[in-house]
Amino acid sequence: MSEKFDVGVIGLGIMGSAMAKNLAKAGHSVAVWNRNAQKALALNADGCTAAATPRDMADACEATVLMVTDPAACDAVLEGKDGWFSGNCNGRLLVNMSTVSADYTKELAARCAKKKVRFIDCPVAGSKGQAEAAQLILLAGGSQSEVEAAKPWLLHMGKTVIYAGPAGNGSALKLCINLIIAQMSSCLCESVTLADLLKIDPKLIFDVLHESPVLDCGYYRIKEKNLLAKNYAPAFSLANVLKDVKFMLAQAQGAGGKLPVTEAVRELLQQGYDAGRGDKDLSIMAETLREMKK
Ligand code: NAP
Repeated sequence: MSEKFDVGVIGLGIMGSAMAKNLAKAGHSVAVWNRNAQKALALNADGCTAAATPRDMADACEATVLMVTDPAACDAVLEGKDGWFSGNCNGRLLVNMSTVSADYTKELAARCAKKKVRFIDCPVAGSKGQAEAAQLILLAGGSQSEVEAAKPWLLHMGKTVIYAGPAGNGSALKLCINLIIAQMSSCLCESVTLADLLKIDPKLIFDVLHESPVLDCGYYRIKEKNLLAKNYAPAFSLANVLKDVKFMLAQAQGAGGKLPVTEAVRELLQQGYDAGRGDKDLSIMAETLREMKK
């Protein structure tokens, strides 16, 4: 593509599509690419231009955001004949906002340095609603001056940037946050399961939480809607949280520690995944629990 763009977004799933729209809404020229090209073409209506390959994105975009599933997906768009690294990436900025392990991020940062690509490790806290409202919390790792320089446009996708230290630390902090999300989800799902077993209306759990100054929380309010309606349309997919929990366990083990409660949550998530529920919201753990017998 001959046109030049301020920003490119690769990966237009639940999060990336909302982020690309917000960048365009803020006045940036935005190019987009997605494996399933339909999702990129659909963003034409929002002022984004679909590129043919990730390689074209490197040629055309000053900075590129990656928002794909996992390390394998990052490598799939970065490497190979049409990969982003095969384009004109020398001096370009790559901002990986996908949730990956800290070890992968360090290795990717080294690969970028070799290719003279500027790199920011920048996963996000917040889900579909926050991505749509440009209210994400950006957890940044890498060169602090690079992060500061990118802040003005990064903040068109979020409300704040928290600097965590060198590349790898953004990803490490993100795993710490998602550990809380994974456990809050499982504890809420188990509470609803116990209510069912004891013939208590689960809505009463939420009535109590709402009245409590310490237990009332936005996350529980969001998941209340899923759990009471048994509607598991994904905001954060079970497959993606299972991926993150595996990273947490592997990184903790690598650092000589253990996360026994997270290990139990992993088993619960794995059961749901094996039952074909990976693409549903993580609150569908409630259905796996409901099916369990002593
Ligand atoms: P999603 O809706 O499942 O989207 C995943 C994206 O990755 C899609 O664009 C998909 O392309 C692409 N992808 C997957 N494998 C690929 C491959 N091998 N090659 C090229 N592209 C590939 O996921 P999401 O919820 O937007 O999450 C994206 C990232 O943000 C994940 O790392 C997730 O953990 C993280 N995150 C999610 C949330 C949340 O609440 N949803 C919050 C914070 C962070 P196709 O469309 O072609 O499949």
